[in-house]
Amino acid sequence: MKKEMICIRCPKGCRMNVEYENEKIIRVTGNGCKKGEAYAFDEIVKPMRIVTSTVRVVGGRLPVVPVKTSIPVRRSIIFPVMQEIYKASVKAPIKEGQVLIKNPADCGADVVATLGMEKTGTKDD
Ligand code: SF4
Repeated sequence: MKKEMICIRCPKGCRMNVEYENEKIIRVTGNGCKKGEAYAFDEIVKPMRIVTSTVRVVGGRLPVVPVKTSIPVRRSIIFPVMQEIYKASVKAPIKEGQVLIKNPADCGADVVATLGMEKTGTKDD
């Protein structure tokens, strides 16, 4: 099989052509350095992504807080992680970096707040 991809390991963004069979990389062309081959391997064999979303907030100044996974998770498990994020709700106040969901869908990462949030009526209300 063949796949075209852009390496994002540095700002150069090489456009690469990757030939592979099952999970074995046969040839990578267009890469400016060895990191491109490693990137192609990761994308074909074990693609990982940081998941970003929002979680509902009870008693906060806004109805939702932005969140992300603490580390990249397997792309194949993103949907179950999103389902757990969608079901969750947390009480304000929330601190930036606070773990809001521990290890959703057994993904190996936690879901953390990327923004702090006060309770309603605690600042200049
Ligand atoms: S292949 Fe190397 S030079 Fe090209 S984008 Fe990736 S890291 Fe940068």
